[in-house]
Amino acid sequence: MVTEEKLISAARQASEHSYAPYSGFRVGAALLTATGRIYIGANIENASYGASVCAERTAFFQAILAGETVFEAIAIAGGDDFCPPCGICRQVMSEFCAPDFRVLLCRGQDIRSFSLKELLPMAFKLEQKGM
Ligand SMILES: [Zn+2]
Repeated sequence: MVTEEKLISAARQASEHSYAPYSGFRVGAALLTATGRIYIGANIENASYGASVCAERTAFFQAILAGETVFEAIAIAGGDDFCPPCGICRQVMSEFCAPDFRVLLCRGQDIRSFSLKELLPMAFKLEQKGM
């Protein structure tokens, strides 16, 4: 079983692979699937700032490309304080995760757990497009 501590540790390790020459803000994410696998991600910046991608989305995209479809939790680690996911990443999570999907944030040894529904109430979904 993957503990919260193990997932946070994987996120911290993933941040070491960050490419952040512009902000210097290195972020790592570790995404846990229902099958118990962990996919890591890190932020990857670009000289054209809009082309930059967050750690959370690189983790999700790797997992989805590997065929994963059911996700349980993601741990995010960056800087010395809690590093909550940006709005775009919350929206990506809502595409692939249930409302009770857990988002783990850490500051030192302090871990906080939120549901996706708490972080993104009234998420924009397929139903809003009439599909
Ligand atoms: Zn983001």
